[in-house]
Amino acid sequence: MKKHNFSAGPCILPQEVLQKASEAILNFNNDDLSLIEISHRSKSFVAVIEKARSLALELLGLENKGYKALFLHGGASMEFLMVAYNLLDKKAAYLNTGTWSDKAIKEAKAFGEIIEVASSKDKGYNYIPKEYVVPKDADYFHCTSNNTVAGTQMKSFPETAVPLVCDMSSDIFSRQLDFEKFDLIYAGAQKNMGPAGTTLVIVKENILGKVERHIPSMLNYQTHIDKDSMFNTPAVFPVYVSMLTLQWLKDLGGISFIEEVNNKKAALLYAEIDRNSLFEGIVAKEDRSTMNATFILKDKSLTEKFDKMWAAAGINGLNGHRSVGGYRASMYNALPLYSVQVLVDVMQKLESQL
Ligand SMILES: *Cc1c(COP(=O)(O)O)cnc(C)c1O
Repeated sequence: MKKHNFSAGPCILPQEVLQKASEAILNFNNDDLSLIEISHRSKSFVAVIEKARSLALELLGLENKGYKALFLHGGASMEFLMVAYNLLDKKAAYLNTGTWSDKAIKEAKAFGEIIEVASSKDKGYNYIPKEYVVPKDADYFHCTSNNTVAGTQMKSFPETAVPLVCDMSSDIFSRQLDFEKFDLIYAGAQKNMGPAGTTLVIVKENILGKVERHIPSMLNYQTHIDKDSMFNTPAVFPVYVSMLTLQWLKDLGGISFIEEVNNKKAALLYAEIDRNSLFEGIVAKEDRSTMNATFILKDKSLTEKFDKMWAAAGINGLNGHRSVGGYRASMYNALPLYSVQVLVDVMQKLESQL
């Protein structure tokens, strides 16, 4: 039996995607060759990456609106650097809502002045700051839609006069947003889209070309736009699996369908965290993430018992991030509602045994 996989990333992928991906490793398209031993410029693979790019834009409702979808290397962490390299002329505004925002800010500081418009760092990132002003003369505003480590999620985004850049690594394709509000969206594949090794970047072309500095080819978005993500060898397998996952999502009914499922999963778990006398959520209720639910045991002496119980129930990946401890249940798109029910049952069983 497959485990109930609550891993934060790399994370659960749809079983049928894993099945197809494993078949393609052995024999892709009945060509009697493996997907990972053919040229990335072969017709078969070019069709894959084109499909992946068009599915990404289609699911977000961004087709024919001046956006390009790119599959790049280096993870979301590389985008911390590339965003600033390509867009930061004099100063940029950042909202600091978590470990990943903090890292993005650190990277960007090498390229110009960074205005931190607000931060929840002093409170362990347990809420999303809401009262802040984005300077009108900033080159862009950067935020993180979902804070994978702390377990908070931005429920709304500011109206900005400047380009809006967002790290959506851990909640892209999980909920409906007005994606046209954003000028650049990036996401490491391994949270909601595919295996680690590729990063999806959706960029509005008209925000590029406004900085004076020389940008190395590999770090220049324009290079990858001009070469259709084929400037160098793309991560063929991660791109293929991402394409399969996006197709899976489209066939299910797209983001509006999965958002309902995700809301149900989150509601089920948070209701139990709030009801059960042994557990406690650790972030502001209105900012709770539907993707990563963080919680603690009030009585730490129960840790060993609880840990044994959930492991015995076939649950994987429930430990909190090493920087915060406690528990984190990551409920990405591919996690079935049933897995959340299994976790809730274990929480109830623990309570009933005391
Ligand atoms: C995981 C994560 C990252 C880092 O992704 P890498 O692909 O490992 O560089 C950045 N931002 C967020 C929000 C994440 O969840």
